[in-house]
Amino acid sequence: MEIHEIKAKLTIANVLHFYGLKTDKQSRLNCPFHEDKTPSMQVYYKTQTAYCFSSNCKTLGKSMDVIDFVMHYESLSDVGGNNTKAEAINKCKEILGHQKPNSKERYQPDLSKSQFPRCAKSPDFELSLLLLNFQNAISIS
Ligand SMILES: [Zn+2]
Repeated sequence: MEIHEIKAKLTIANVLHFYGLKTDKQSRLNCPFHEDKTPSMQVYYKTQTAYCFSSNCKTLGKSMDVIDFVMHYESLSDVGGNNTKAEAINKCKEILGHQKPNSKERYQPDLSKSQFPRCAKSPDFELSLLLLNFQNAISIS
């Protein structure tokens, strides 16, 4: 998978979600890359980038795309502290893998609705069915 393919498929929202990060109503969050007490990081969903406004941040005031973000984030947990772009790209692929919808779940028809379409409309339908069974049971015995 090429870098441009990753950028086309992986959104900044996907990445934030993967790392359990949430933005506030102004699309800001506490920057994970420096000691941040107030939300200094702005996320731009339109351009799929993030930018930290703090001057003492290791992102060095540069706009980050999804791959840069992953690279910085992975560096946090890495002992060496310096992840390469190639490693970040691999991680992006992994995140994309997590996004893949389960094809079995996706195409499973909803039997409960298709078998008894009237249930949803008439709450008494099931009751009348029960009653019918009951009457049948009586007539058989
Ligand atoms: Zn920062």
